[in-house]
Amino acid sequence: MGLMDGKRGIIFGVANDMSIAWGIAQQLKAQGATLAFTYLNEALEKRVRPLAESLDADLILPCDVSNDADIEAVFETLGKEWGSVDFVVHAVAFANREDLKHGFSQTSRAGFKLALDISAYSLVAVTRCAVPLMTDGGSIVTMTYLGAVRTIPQYNVMGVAKAALEASVRYLAVELGEKGIRVNAVSAGPIKTLAASGIANFREKLKLMDDRAPLKRCVSQEEVGKSTLYLLSDLASGVTGEVHYVDAGFNVTGA
Ligand code: NAD
Repeated sequence: MGLMDGKRGIIFGVANDMSIAWGIAQQLKAQGATLAFTYLNEALEKRVRPLAESLDADLILPCDVSNDADIEAVFETLGKEWGSVDFVVHAVAFANREDLKHGFSQTSRAGFKLALDISAYSLVAVTRCAVPLMTDGGSIVTMTYLGAVRTIPQYNVMGVAKAALEASVRYLAVELGEKGIRVNAVSAGPIKTLAASGIANFREKLKLMDDRAPLKRCVSQEEVGKSTLYLLSDLASGVTGEVHYVDAGFNVTGA
């Protein structure tokens, strides 16, 4: 018996086998979930397709979350193929590299809009399309970071985007609660991934975990996967609108 037996869901945000979304996918599959995946572009499809196929996924769909038509097409396909959806993993973020280097006041209007669109608004757009298919309730989990609630050096506009994302989680949770749809965020500690490589001095953030986190180490994709599994499963049936920290306790020590 798996925690996710009989449940079907879609994962946005696998880029490669270092992705947090991949750590989540492996945990969900191990507990019996049926998975669909999206990929951003053709270059990433080459990496995502073999990974998704290794977990027996046959719905592997293109989706740029800055494009409403792409998101609508994904859920139209899920509707045709599955009829309903039980869960969504949103593990997508983007900001221009230069906006994570300079002082925050140097953030351009275009860079601000881009980061907020892809990293925060996309959760709203994805949720809007998922809801009609969550006919038997559902669970949606997105990925955030401590930079939403504390200033973290160089995190800049991504911190503002994550603050908007966490607020969106709360508003979505309140709106969708009566439909039995839960919306939560996992706030992961720093993990070496493709997206993280865009953040200046990221190595220092990893080192700080060894020094200052109560567990004296970084967390892994697998650990983020296990907590996300909990939030997506019926074990968390009473949990919504929450930010769940998986950061070796770093947030309690004060960043
Ligand atoms: P990653 O690079 O593996 O994943 C980021 C994903 O976002 C990629 O799959 C990329 O294709 C996708 N993406 C970017 N722009 C997109 C667009 N327009 N449309 C569709 N997809 C798009 O890196 P990751 O670290 O696994 O990031 C996953 C999530 O976890 C992000 O929200 C990130 O902010 C968050 N997070 C990461 C860390 C960390 O330290 N790595 C910590 C906390 C939170």
